[in-house]
Amino acid sequence: MLDTRAGQVIDRGYILVEGERIQEMGEGDPVTRGDPEVLDLRGRFLMPGLVNAHVHLVWDGSADPDARIRGLSPTCVAMVVAAQARRHLVAGITTVRDVGSLMDTVLSLRWAVNEGLWPGPNIITSGAPLTMTGGHMHPVVAWEVDGEQDILKAVRSLIKAGVDLIKVMATGGVYTPGEEPGSAQMTAGEMSVAVREAHRKGIPVAAHAEGLQGIKEALEAGVDAIEHGNYAGEEALKTMRERGVFLVPTASWFLRASREDAVELGIPGYVREKVQEVVDAQRQSLPEAIRKGVRIAVGTDAGAPLHPPENYHMEVTALREMGMDPMESLRAATLVGAMVCNREDIGRLEPGCLADVLAIDGNPLERPGDLLRVHTVMKSGRLVGGDSW
Ligand SMILES: [Zn+2]
Repeated sequence: MLDTRAGQVIDRGYILVEGERIQEMGEGDPVTRGDPEVLDLRGRFLMPGLVNAHVHLVWDGSADPDARIRGLSPTCVAMVVAAQARRHLVAGITTVRDVGSLMDTVLSLRWAVNEGLWPGPNIITSGAPLTMTGGHMHPVVAWEVDGEQDILKAVRSLIKAGVDLIKVMATGGVYTPGEEPGSAQMTAGEMSVAVREAHRKGIPVAAHAEGLQGIKEALEAGVDAIEHGNYAGEEALKTMRERGVFLVPTASWFLRASREDAVELGIPGYVREKVQEVVDAQRQSLPEAIRKGVRIAVGTDAGAPLHPPENYHMEVTALREMGMDPMESLRAATLVGAMVCNREDIGRLEPGCLADVLAIDGNPLERPGDLLRVHTVMKSGRLVGGDSW
């Protein structure tokens, strides 16, 4: 059993669950009170449910998911979102941080999941991401806003709608035609307005930032998390480390999209053309971020082209290949993911935490691919795949 806080494996671990929360965590034989129902998972690797800190539930991980939802009504998109949410949960991902989905589709799904109407992970969502006119993700998903007044109004509207975080686009990206991942988009001044307003309500701000200029401006504006961060240099990483700014690299998506077979499988040509350069940049910056001790969370960009929820283990593998220690990579998948979601009651198997539990047939510390060998998933004390779900 993985103790994510201590960074240790407990040999004969147990947890006691009551209702939706963990009451007790220990080693050896539990001191049982009353007549508890026992779930014997001996021989399996028990850990907190996975956190995917960067997903887009509106996208289904097909070759061109943005095209798939183009022209669909918000209700139809909500159906796509619902199907994706269930897929995450079944794969052992009990929490997702959705950093950009169409209008209020994911907010509606979060409601349905919280009401118990539909199986899904805990959902932390930004609702619609904010982008400049013609900026990253503008074709279908993002909300185009320009200037400080527009942004103030948009941020207040999103908070009124109930978002958990604000997402801003600081640079271009790979999966939007006609822009460069390296070029800056929303200005530091515009992003500061978003940060100031969100922080007044205790809501964090994440910036999509691939190029260095945008990363710098996002940090200057005071964002809490940098998504991707491909071209982050020494200085930017140092700032992130000092201020505790999170990095969610989504390295596995860039790697997946750069593979030889991507075009054959139908990924848009413009993605293939742009992706290699950002992969190369990240091969420089990510090992450095790991060495410097920047807080890194596992986020896969699940839903993006050719990257379904089940590819989660690829991110853990990528982080290890870039130099992260195996235990740290599982903490990035649980504890740090929970931190970037601003949640203290997930990512650990400790008393008071939600009973979000994953049992694996295998050992993901030794082989990240074993994360695919899901044996049991419990979310908020309910067994996934059981009669009730
Ligand atoms: Zn993304």
